Amino acid sequence: MESSTFFDQFMECAEREGGRRPGCVSSDTMRELCAAPAPPGFVRPKPFPAAPAAAKTPAASASSAPVASPDDPPEVKLEKMRLFSLACRRCPLAATRTNVVFGEGDPHARLMFIGEGPGADEDRQGRPFVGRAGQLLDRMIAAMKLKREEVYIANVVKCRPPGNRTPTPEEAMRCIGYLERQIRFVKPEVIVLLGATAATFLLKRNEGISRLRGIWQEYDGIPVMPTFHPAFLLRQESAKREAWHDLQQVMAKLGK
Ligand code: URA
Repeated sequence: MESSTFFDQFMECAEREGGRRPGCVSSDTMRELCAAPAPPGFVRPKPFPAAPAAAKTPAASASSAPVASPDDPPEVKLEKMRLFSLACRRCPLAATRTNVVFGEGDPHARLMFIGEGPGADEDRQGRPFVGRAGQLLDRMIAAMKLKREEVYIANVVKCRPPGNRTPTPEEAMRCIGYLERQIRFVKPEVIVLLGATAATFLLKRNEGISRLRGIWQEYDGIPVMPTFHPAFLLRQESAKREAWHDLQQVMAKLGK
């Protein structure tokens, strides 16, 4: 797909440049990026003379966001990408969000949870899984003998779909580059996918979560356990038993 190619090209140029000159993108690279075919709606960064890295506000433009160096530790790579994401205008969800909900947790986490996208509470606070579903996720994590701060939590899309609708494939494809990099930077030992949207867009599988859950999958060499989304478990109490069975498999994999 052209749009994801462009995004990859953009991020790869930014990462490559960051390796040479941390915090900067050279004017040559900017010219290369500005010449590349961009998807409709992409706000091109303006060519600019190399600028020093600095803390940016949410109003920062993509062109001035600090970029990751291959030698950065995961926490620095994640923070640079988070700052980059604050200026993201890659899809229409940017127009209605209050906050970008990038994700949070231990950059060295052994376990990563991936949900669908922010709801109203998350959009307001800029943090993933802080509403009712998040409270249940916290209890699931505690039942696994882990603390929330010990895991990493992210979503397929980083901005709230209006009315909490499911993200469209276009929105998910435009956003998935962030998640792919979060996984690459954190390098968790195990990933838990929460619900059908995460399973569809990360595994590129359409079977539905009821069929996929409880069966080990793989993403980029990492074992992946799909299970029910906590929001579904709040509506369907009886499914908690199956979800717990899935999480026990994850604990066994982690030696818990
Ligand atoms: N549901 C999700 O999928 N993600 C969140 O962050 C909150 C609710």
